[in-house]
Formats: sequence, structure tokens, C-alpha cells
Amino acid sequence: MSAALAPATPAEAAEALAGLTARGEPVDVRGGGTRSARGWPGPVAGRELLTGGLRRVVAHEPADLTLTVEAGAPVADVAALLAAAGQCWPQADARPGSTVGGVLAAAASGRSRLRDGAVRDSVLEVVLATGDGRLVTAGGRTVKGVSGFDIPRLAVGSLGTLGVIVQVTLKLWPLPPARGWFAAEGALADRVVVGEAALAGPPRPGAVILTPGRLHVELTGPPEDVRPPAGLGPSGAPPAPAGAGVVEAGVPPPAVADLARRLEAAGLPYEARMGVGTCLVAVGAAEEVGRVRAWAAELGGHAVVADAPEELRADPWGPPPPGLAIMRRLRAAFDPAGILNRRFLPWSA
Ligand SMILES: Cc1cc2nc3c(=O)[nH]c(=O)nc-3n(C[C@H](O)[C@H](O)[C@H](O)COP(=O)(O)OP(=O)(O)OC[C@H]3O[C@@H](n4cnc5c(N)ncnc54)[C@H](O)[C@@H]3O)c2cc1C
Repeated sequence: MSAALAPATPAEAAEALAGLTARGEPVDVRGGGTRSARGWPGPVAGRELLTGGLRRVVAHEPADLTLTVEAGAPVADVAALLAAAGQCWPQADARPGSTVGGVLAAAASGRSRLRDGAVRDSVLEVVLATGDGRLVTAGGRTVKGVSGFDIPRLAVGSLGTLGVIVQVTLKLWPLPPARGWFAAEGALADRVVVGEAALAGPPRPGAVILTPGRLHVELTGPPEDVRPPAGLGPSGAPPAPAGAGVVEAGVPPPAVADLARRLEAAGLPYEARMGVGTCLVAVGAAEEVGRVRAWAAELGGHAVVADAPEELRADPWGPPPPGLAIMRRLRAAFDPAGILNRRFLPWSA
């Protein structure tokens, strides 16, 4: 592998990409590398572009609840800075080492999406270094809406296939004064009834999660709101489903219980987010990836391999999505030489 590129500024990142495009040289983008075990199996590009040098805090406006930060900044550093001001970025599903840009590129919404919204909704402005080396700024730093082509939402979830996110402005939330997890055991049908009551609130829950044999509810807010809902007792946060690999399924929220029933019957560890539609499933074999995908499709959803060793990633995305032709045109407009993160494209690597 050639020497890694480690730009220290957004302009240097754009310049490096322009050079790679001129030479037609593929590159993989790396933030914290915590969500890189996805997409087609190797070979990876001969070069990496590391975002770790892009970590400056450009502006924190506590009164406006906004933060402008370079995308290689570790989420843990951002969380510490914000906590000191009584604020947080609740949408981030951070792992140890995650960067702000990596969380956004992977559209990694956290468990509190039910209450706090999807991670894409927390992005006010994005600066993207496109594959061919342009620096594109889109959106606006104020919470007011900006009209025009919504590049921030395009960049979130694009897994670095359109450009490198080099800087973002995030919408912040006040840090909740109290938070707590509550849980109950029982038959799936009973847990679903209790979960639906929790979803209906009040108070509005942060998360309502089914796992094999259990229901978990997270409450956040003033201490008087963080009390055990009917039928549940205090507990810790549920552990993530563990297996050789993880599949992320998405189904219409009303179909989550049906997916959970099939997963429990098959003995597959899972975490199904009621009211959101996302379900993480631990898998140990390619055949299990296929089974989960088929069930999700029957229920009107889809399933992609989110984190897994290469032997479970022979078919990471499943059937081509309906928007494939549009995805190809966007890719050609942002990365005409096709150098960026080829491993993450829904078509062949
Ligand atoms: C380059 C690239 C290629 C990809 N290729 C594929 C591919 O070929 N096939 C594929 O399946 N995935 C593919 N994906 C992955 C897919 O885009 C991800 O699952 C996606 O990032 C999920 O995004 P989200 O969190 O914004 O989902 P959202 O749209 O925000 O929704 C969250 C989940 O809940 C479900 N959901 C929520 N509300 C509803 C509702 N009312 N009705 C129905 N469902 C609901 C959704 O299905 C979804 O999974 C690709 C991703 C990238 C970056």
C-alpha cells in the first residue's frame, strides 16, 4: 500500500483528491475506522486518506445550539466539549474512536433516534471535498431552513462514495438532566403491548427496544420523567447483539414486532427499535444474512450487512435499490473518475 494521505486542512484534502483523480488512483477514506467492516470484500484501494488531521473546532455557539467542527474530530472529544456547556449531539451512535465524519458518512443514528431524530437531521451545513477535488459548502450554519439542493442529506449515509466530509455544522441539544433504562421480561405479545404503551407516552421515550425475551425503555429528561413505566423495572442499557457479523434491517415501524417474532423463533440475537423500524441482527453464517434479508423484504423493508468479516459480505447490499440509476449519476457528478471508497458502492466494487 502506498503512503497514506493525511491532509491537515479541508483545502489540502481537496487538493489530494484532485491529484488522485488526475492519476485515476483509487483511495479509501478512513476516519476512526470503526465502521469499515462493511461493503464488498477486498481488494481495498492501494491508498488511504486519513481524516485525523482535520479536527479543529471552528465555532461553538452555545446560545444558538450549534457547533462547526472539522470532520476528523473524535466524537468523544466533541462530547466532552459540549458536556462542559451542558449540551450534546444525541444523534451520534459513537463507538470508541468514531469521528464526526465517520458517523455522518455511515448515517449512524443512535438508539435515541425515536426521540432525538435521525443523525441526518442534526446536520445544518456540510463542506464536502468531492472526488475530483472541489470544495462544496452546502446548507447553512443557522437552524433556519435553507432552500436548494440538499447536499447535507446526500452526504449523510453516502459512505464516502461522493466526497470526503471535511467540515460540518451540527445542531445541538441541551444535555438531559436525568436518564435511565427500564426493562421487563415476558412473552413477545405482552412485551409489544407494554412497548406500545411506552411509545404512546407521556413521557416521550428515548428508545423502546425489543431483544430476545426482553423489552427495554430508555427515558431522558427532568428527573420526574425518568421513573419506571408501568410493568418495567430499573435496568442497565441492553448490550448490542453479538455474533460474527451484524445485519441491519429496516422495516416499516408497525412490522418490527413481526420481524422480532421470526428472529426469536430462529434463535438469532437481535435489537429491534420499536417506533423507528431499525433492527440489528447478529449472524454467524451467510445463510442467516439471506434469511434475515428475505424476512425484511416480505415485511416491506430491506437488510444490509453492517459489520462483518469478509466471508459474510459476499452480498453486502442485497437486491439493487430502485434508485440505482440516480445513485450512479450522482456518483459520476461528484466523483467522475470513480476513485472514492469503491468497496461501498451497491454495484460491483
Ligand atoms: C453507496 C450505498 C449503497 C447502498 N446500497 C444499498 C442497496 O443496494 N440495498 C440496500 O438495501 N441498501 C443499500 N444501502 C444501505 C441503505 O442505504 C441503508 O440501509 C441506509 O443508510 C439506511 O438509511 P437511513 O438510516 O437514512 O434510513 P431511513 O430511511 O431513515 O429509515 C430507517 C429505517 O427504518 C425503516 N423505516 C422507517 N420508517 C419507515 C416507514 N414509514 N416505512 C418503511 N420503512 C421505514 C427504513 O426502511 C430504514 O431502514 C446502501 C448504502 C450506501 C451508502
